[in-house]
Amino acid sequence: MNRKISKVAPRVGIVSLGCAKALVDSERILTRLRAEGYDISSTYDGADVVIVNTCGFLDSARAESLEAIGEALAENGRVVVTGCMGVDEAAIRSAHPSVLAVTGPHQYEAVVEAVHRAAPPSHDPFLDLVPPEGLRLTPRHYAYLKISEGCNHRCAFCVIPSIRGDLVSRPAGDVLAEAERLAMAGVKEVLVISQDTGAYGLDLGHAESPWRGRPVKSRLTDLASALGDLGIWVRMHYVYPYPHVDELIPLMAEGKILPYLDIPFQHASPTVLKAMRRPANQEKALERIRSWRETCPDLAIRSTFIVGFPGETEEDFEFLLDWLDAAELDRVGCFKYENVAGAAANALPGHIDEDEKEERHARLVEVARQAADRRMRAKVGRAIDVIVDEVDEEGAIGRSKADSPEVDGCVFLQGETGVQPGDVVKAEVYAAEDYDLWAEVVRD
Ligand code: SF4
Repeated sequence: MNRKISKVAPRVGIVSLGCAKALVDSERILTRLRAEGYDISSTYDGADVVIVNTCGFLDSARAESLEAIGEALAENGRVVVTGCMGVDEAAIRSAHPSVLAVTGPHQYEAVVEAVHRAAPPSHDPFLDLVPPEGLRLTPRHYAYLKISEGCNHRCAFCVIPSIRGDLVSRPAGDVLAEAERLAMAGVKEVLVISQDTGAYGLDLGHAESPWRGRPVKSRLTDLASALGDLGIWVRMHYVYPYPHVDELIPLMAEGKILPYLDIPFQHASPTVLKAMRRPANQEKALERIRSWRETCPDLAIRSTFIVGFPGETEEDFEFLLDWLDAAELDRVGCFKYENVAGAAANALPGHIDEDEKEERHARLVEVARQAADRRMRAKVGRAIDVIVDEVDEEGAIGRSKADSPEVDGCVFLQGETGVQPGDVVKAEVYAAEDYDLWAEVVRD
């Protein structure tokens, strides 16, 4: 039956650019289309229409998006554009007038309608069989879990609130039901994402919703605690440094959620933070980090920083380097400041030249690497839990609780071929370098 169906089903290809939140949007679009009987094509050739889910965050991401649209047009010719860059339809159409449709982020209906027009769905009732957990673009054992959309902050370098709007949270019961379906489908790790995870539920007045016959508040600590009851790894991303984030740390120490916090500090100098319109009390942030680590010594902190923000002096930058050296963050991402069309920071005085940005970027990366290396080396000789991501004839590659997929380090289990993706094994670390570890499985 399926063979017959696959011959008649229209086929959709998708190119998904940008962040994990955009990836979740792509998954939703594909889930919906699959439910309507479309097949998913992994090649341009095999697709009746190609969706390009764009990123519009930085100028470089916009350029990459335009390039991807151009490639899809050259290879296939029938292209529907969606995602963050979709809000700038004029720019897309002026570069690529032949795209079939342009829609913005979360306009799932509009994307699906454009696909219907380009490649009408076949009407076979057997085609609407989709696994209840939906379709995912991540490997089977981990999945992103989006808990809210939009953001109430107005950071000077960011246009996300103007693209995605103010914070809109999902009721806790809905989020938990989705996480439970994922766990039942074999997912071993959920990555909690949003634009501003710490603000979860503010817009709902932290209203309660039912889950497993009891009310759960739409408050990050309550949600995290309930997610922790599912018995899978729960990892927190994009947690803005609000005071109540402190409440998550005991849950991490107890082992309810992973001892991992992705908290975008962006800078440390009070002057730069003020210009960025971010909270400017990083002195306190150092104290908080120390106290978090006292409560939960295994806590891994990931953060991102922007160097070369307009007006950043050498003194501000050195302040940031000293702060990083003291904070000893476990994982650090660093971006060179770029203007983003429509962002308030574009109009600030004191733009830094590219060579200077490049140099600061290299200096920051080195200080962050050395600080992380000190923490990584302290793991040698310890037994840690490792989730397996890939296995081949040479061994397995996994991640520790301190490693989120795609962005952090790996744990190499050389010669370990008897494990499966998604297995969680205990392994003793025998070497560390930069952000990676080498370990040997411990057998009882
Ligand atoms: S908190 Fe994040 S999403 Fe919100 S405005 Fe700032 S950078 Fe943008």
